[in-house]
Amino acid sequence: MDTSDSTAKLDFIRQIVAEDLKTNKWGGRVHTRFPPEPNGFLHIGHAKAICLNFGIAAENNGLCNLRFDDTNPIKEEAEYIDAIIEDVRWLGFDWQDRLYYASDYFEQMYQYAVQLIKKGNAYVCDLNAEQIREYRGTLTTPGKNSPYRNRSVEENLDLFERMRAGEFPDGSRTLRAKIDMASPNLNMRDPVMYRILHATHHRTDDKWCIYPTYDWAHGLEDSIEKITHSICTLEFENHRPLYDWFLDQLGVHHPQQIEFARLNLSYTVMSKRKLQQLVQEAKVNGWDDPRMPTISGMRRRGYSPESIREFCRRIGVNKFNSTVDIALLEHCVRQDLNKRSPRVMAVLRPLKVIIDNYRKEKVEELEAVNNPEDPSAGTRKVPFSQELYIERDDFMEEPPKKFYRLAPGREVRLRYAYFITCNNVIKNADGQVIELHCTYDPATRGGDAPDGRKVKATLHWVSAHHAIEAEVRLYDHLFTKENPDDVEQGNDFKSNLNPNSLETLVSCRVEPSLAGATPGSRYQFERLGYFCTDPDSSAGKLIFNRTVTLRDPWAKIQKAQQNR
Ligand code: ATP
Ligand code: MG
Repeated sequence: MDTSDSTAKLDFIRQIVAEDLKTNKWGGRVHTRFPPEPNGFLHIGHAKAICLNFGIAAENNGLCNLRFDDTNPIKEEAEYIDAIIEDVRWLGFDWQDRLYYASDYFEQMYQYAVQLIKKGNAYVCDLNAEQIREYRGTLTTPGKNSPYRNRSVEENLDLFERMRAGEFPDGSRTLRAKIDMASPNLNMRDPVMYRILHATHHRTDDKWCIYPTYDWAHGLEDSIEKITHSICTLEFENHRPLYDWFLDQLGVHHPQQIEFARLNLSYTVMSKRKLQQLVQEAKVNGWDDPRMPTISGMRRRGYSPESIREFCRRIGVNKFNSTVDIALLEHCVRQDLNKRSPRVMAVLRPLKVIIDNYRKEKVEELEAVNNPEDPSAGTRKVPFSQELYIERDDFMEEPPKKFYRLAPGREVRLRYAYFITCNNVIKNADGQVIELHCTYDPATRGGDAPDGRKVKATLHWVSAHHAIEAEVRLYDHLFTKENPDDVEQGNDFKSNLNPNSLETLVSCRVEPSLAGATPGSRYQFERLGYFCTDPDSSAGKLIFNRTVTLRDPWAKIQKAQQNR
């Protein structure tokens, strides 16, 4: 195989990795990491980073670590750690025994800082946060040197040790790198390495009252773990010179930082801070609310890991920020569920149908196909009897043109069953239709007329006495705008929340084969979409989430593009 041709098809990160293998830059090693900060649940953007890091490692016989970047004690919680572990595993990735915590390196980071102080590369600064900002200058004006910049190594070592010992209050001092206050890159203007924070850390408890900043800590974490390719998102491009500077000054293992564009998805938000707000202000029912773009929300909604991985493969990686149409994600979900989901019949808004010429006590077990996409899935029996439910939307007393479903005097097919004709409509005092009286044609058993006569509609149905009552939750986009951050002045992104993102239907009926449906089971409800049993579901109360509808706007977009 022509390798130049095969690498040409690789994305730019995989090209770098392939090139490094060719030149033996890392001694044939490929070692990546996924480094979440445990300050929230993972979202679909993280899935992109997970697929990228674990994917590149797997494709190249390499390794990928799961590392908690837990350097900030204020926002982090153990609850998030468990959720992140569960989500990465569920997505199908394995870090074997390489689960690491940045906080385990605190002592080593401290020693590295001492090393930089001794080299004259770092100093203790008494400016407060506001003063540091003032001294930093702007993009167009250089910064000013801190008055503490020229402290002696001895004084710096003494003060730094006392910072660690807890002698000084929060915010009173920092350790800063001594680089260049006139650098055009603001990140290089003597960045802070340690700040004083008397806070309890979820793993190190009260052992530390100084905590490393991201810029100082992250490269060290990568270096300690002997990472080869440190893949991160574009906003860290301007931090790369600092990443390199720290590791060069220390003379330690120096991974290559590579930046790619983060994933943005239409009709949702991806920042953990915003997702946190939605949870805290009860705009959604927790991090795993099926409307959330979180991995746990998508799992609860019924998305499969395969479909999320396929979505990440399709969007690829590049260097330019853009927004992906959420319809593409839903398309990937449909394609996957279409292959794997058993078909069943369920009625969301039941309308009673009585077959007047069907004997009251009679029950027939009719054969239904489990999955037309997968013959090996076989068939099952569904009970048919005199009283049925059909979908309220499938009947109109005065049908407009192009409404081909049931109407007075009209004949339609009941899927896997018979042709029925509507003869009589019963209404309540308010004029609402509550019951239809129909007749069936016994000669059409199985759904075909021996005389070849045709009907224009096939309806799904359940037998009233056999069906199980269920709750069904229908979902729409969480936000009404493609870009939720597009807001009127004085409003925030929450003003774009979709008030109709959740619709709960409490008296649905599902076919009896769903009696034992365990949480997480996925089905196609014929004609209605893909559904998944909710974790709150029990034998006594079945609850289903609609994963996606059957309608596929993305397939249409694709077709239109191909025909152009
Ligand atoms: P947020 O801005 O939502 O808080 P973050 O970048 O702070 O996200 P981390 O926990 O630090 O969240 O992210 C872990 C990894 O996932 C990082 O390497 C980060 O680059 C990557 N990542 C985060 N969000 C996205 C995204 N939308 N698309 C791709 N990768 C992402
Ligand atoms: Mg981060």
